[in-house]
Amino acid sequence: AKSLIVGNWKMNGLRQDIDQILAIGASLKENPIDGEVVICPPATLTALAVDAVTNLPVKIGGQDCHAAKAGAYTGDISAEKWKDIGAKYVIVGHSERRESYSEDNISVRSKAKAVLDAGLIPIICIGESLSERDSGETLSVLTKQVRECVPEEAKKGSIAIGYEPVWAIGSGKTPSVDDISEAHSLIRHVLTEEIGDRSKVTPIIYGGSMKPSNASEILAIDGVDGGLVGGASLKAEDFLSIIRAS
Ligand code: 13P
Repeated sequence: AKSLIVGNWKMNGLRQDIDQILAIGASLKENPIDGEVVICPPATLTALAVDAVTNLPVKIGGQDCHAAKAGAYTGDISAEKWKDIGAKYVIVGHSERRESYSEDNISVRSKAKAVLDAGLIPIICIGESLSERDSGETLSVLTKQVRECVPEEAKKGSIAIGYEPVWAIGSGKTPSVDDISEAHSLIRHVLTEEIGDRSKVTPIIYGGSMKPSNASEILAIDGVDGGLVGGASLKAEDFLSIIRAS
């Protein structure tokens, strides 16, 4: 799969930060990359961001969605609503949502299904916690997460998998090259069992403390098809240097 670099702004960014998206888009238009760049700003900025990237090679995504299409769900946003404003991707199952809102694999799968049903691409996040890693459960946790989070519909539609070790997020720590490589190849293997040939065209991207100084090493790992970047995606300069490392 070609490279997919996703910026997850989390709960950061104000209207003025649309300028960062414009700067990224302008640079990519002038100097295109062989791959896709996606920015997922907070919900308040997504419609503005979609308008800003008209004619620029950047796609916009949401950070979460509700599994239902519409209804009495105060504060929630459905995949249909993301589609309506022109988003192309939706992150589902981010570890921050799993932790703060008790999302489990089953609810992540229903969200991923809703995103596919809306004709958008879910970025399904998985990853082990520090205690799971310390007790040697990393590969079994990842296997279970792929089996339980990837919906049947992925045999036909497009998805991406974000591998984010929970302990690497925002910590400045990253797994070794060998550990990332082992995790990605396991994920690919289980994904092929689940969705067959569609696995071949599914990007499996790494996230967790990716920054300009480590991006080229991580993105060069066999089986790593791109990056899911938090903190270092907020400033155009940093994010562009990660994009250019891919
Ligand atoms: P950081 O890049 O800030 O570690 O965040 C990674 C992440 O959670 C992206 O979804």
